[in-house]
Amino acid sequence: MTDDRDRIGRGILEQLEYYRSLGVRWARTSPTSRSSERRASTARERAQPRVVPPAGEGLIFIPQTATMFDPIPAQDESLEAIRQDLGDCKRCKLAPDRKHIVFGSGNPKAELMFVGEAPGADEDEQGLPFVGRAGQLLTRIIEAIDMRRSDVYICNILKCRPPGNRNPEGDEIKSCEPFLLRQIASIRPRVICALGTFGAQTLLGTKEPISKLRGRFIEYRGAKLMATFHPAYLLRNPNEKRRVWEDVQKIRDYLKSMRAQT
Ligand code: URA
Repeated sequence: MTDDRDRIGRGILEQLEYYRSLGVRWARTSPTSRSSERRASTARERAQPRVVPPAGEGLIFIPQTATMFDPIPAQDESLEAIRQDLGDCKRCKLAPDRKHIVFGSGNPKAELMFVGEAPGADEDEQGLPFVGRAGQLLTRIIEAIDMRRSDVYICNILKCRPPGNRNPEGDEIKSCEPFLLRQIASIRPRVICALGTFGAQTLLGTKEPISKLRGRFIEYRGAKLMATFHPAYLLRNPNEKRRVWEDVQKIRDYLKSMRAQT
């Protein structure tokens, strides 16, 4: 019974998502669903701001938040403009303890973009992403697919170092993510390689473990996203290097095939 309800719920969401992609903003509900909607209205729901339909009754709002299925909108914004807008960022609680904002570095028109978690001590010191031991391993991974660091773009979910390298927190991600999405929109890479659990789960909006997400291309906003293990994890678990090698070979082959078509 619960399975059926889940399946039907997913079907409705997919249908709404489809209408939304066509530009539909409102959908008419049946009297039955309106009454169940009324029953489901809890104090918490009532406390949330309501979106009022433009006209008529029995309409539900189809939210307009971008999802991983939406193509990245074409954006002429340069990385310099995004960096300037970020400024001397004080949008979250990481600001007071950081030495440098680590915005990202590399080719502004890269076909391949790496997204890690957050700067560590070395990155905070230098203001550049992946320059410590994990970064040196990342450089070797990039070179293993016949590219140089200057060919790709490297950045992180967070632009500032969390104290003691603790995991990024929700409010920090919320402040930083819009800048990452603008970087992706500006670069428009063919492939995004998400490094580690955190990068992959944040971009894909999932709690699936990296062991399940890695190793296959996932459609991400018009690009291909490949999740793989974080280089810092590989330093602790060198046996997993073989898997990362397999993952980045898929990236190399895909980029080769795309270049052959253009
Ligand atoms: N780990 C990350 O996720 N990012 C860096 O820039 C360095 C280490």
